[in-house]
Amino acid sequence: MKVAVIGSGGREHALVKKFYESPSVTEVVAIPGNYAMGGMAKVANDVDLDDFNAVAEVCDREAVEWAVIGPEAPLSEGLVDFLERQHDIKVFGPRKFEARLESSKAFSKAIMKKYDIPTAKYELFTDYDAAQEYLDQVGTPIVIKKDGLAAGKGVVVAMDEETAREALHDMMDGSEGQVVIEEYLEGEEFSLMVLVNEEFIYPFEVMAQDHKRAFDGDEGPNTGGMGAYAPVTHIPESARIEAVEKIVKPMTRAMMDEGLSYFGVMYLGAMVTEDGVKVIEFNARFGDPEAQVLLSLLKSDLGEVLEHMYTKKPFELEWKEGFVAGVMLASKGYPGDYEKGKAVNIPEVISTRSFVSGLSRTDAGTPVTSGGRVLLVCGHGATIEDALEEAYTGVAQVEYESEDLFHRSDIGQRAMK
Ligand code: ATP
Repeated sequence: MKVAVIGSGGREHALVKKFYESPSVTEVVAIPGNYAMGGMAKVANDVDLDDFNAVAEVCDREAVEWAVIGPEAPLSEGLVDFLERQHDIKVFGPRKFEARLESSKAFSKAIMKKYDIPTAKYELFTDYDAAQEYLDQVGTPIVIKKDGLAAGKGVVVAMDEETAREALHDMMDGSEGQVVIEEYLEGEEFSLMVLVNEEFIYPFEVMAQDHKRAFDGDEGPNTGGMGAYAPVTHIPESARIEAVEKIVKPMTRAMMDEGLSYFGVMYLGAMVTEDGVKVIEFNARFGDPEAQVLLSLLKSDLGEVLEHMYTKKPFELEWKEGFVAGVMLASKGYPGDYEKGKAVNIPEVISTRSFVSGLSRTDAGTPVTSGGRVLLVCGHGATIEDALEEAYTGVAQVEYESEDLFHRSDIGQRAMK
């Protein structure tokens, strides 16, 4: 089978690698991909993801059987609907309407409220003054979320009033915009990926944990993710089962009751609170960087998995032993402003366990930074300590100027407490 992976970041790099290693997959095409996928896939790097016709043209030309969509933006813009309707192709990823589970917090919170799915209490505001009044009333800590996609940067957890006011002002631009203001929850977070075809679901047996804040000690602003590891053994299996029974299954049933047909990955960001497991957010695709660590641990043939999901034929997901941890190198300044074009060299010895997020090659062939998050270096080991040691040894081998990139030095620490 021939598979196209749509997207160009580290998550897509991991998908390309996984399909390349899957015996059922004969060829992988990356649209637009990145240079690091070159040895494993045909890279159609001249395609603009906003140009659905161009994406479809490559799929047709390469006669791919499957297209797997990595990032959230094309899902929310209806790439799946477009490819399915106009082309003879199977697409893994939810259609535009179903992708609202991620692209609209107003939609996902409303569905959770209607079907009694445990999540933080919330109010939705379109009026700045009303939102401000509500903030004054409820006080802090409080969480303010912009409606719509914001690449992990549209959420402010405000511990004091000034931060809350500022966040509200920024998100509503002083006067307009839609925000969700929700109850602050406390507890241990985990990410759970679930393969979903309507009521036919396969929750991963392995939970992951990512590190959203920019700096050590969970300080600084939220980012797309600064590192991740799996499995998460300090969170009991009972929490994962509770998430599946009380959140995932009710949500997939709710989608069907609403007349929606969900096909793709359902990502649950959950928190284990004193009152049980609650939803922090849903995403409509694999997490990045969770995908890199989880797909490194997955033993099953991903091509076969897709086929089974499509035909709703029962199967077993198989996992490798041990732990995988990944540490993100990011451009200094990220998630705020940062400069691009900084040279980075990834030595051969770590290239098979490195996933490129934001690097491109100059005409001379030198990899230079082209994004905020640059490179995730992973390590695999029998214990989380071993996995982290291999990951950080790998990070130390990447060559760059110290003023250009930064990384967190405490990935996985919670697992060792
Ligand atoms: P992503 O890029 O993962 O989709 P997002 O922008 O949708 O992120 P959320 O996952 O909703 O944002 O929130 C980001 C982080 O903010 C969470 O991982 C969590 O640490 C924190 N957070 C969000 N909601 C709450 C809450 N109600 N209480 C406490 N912390 C929260």
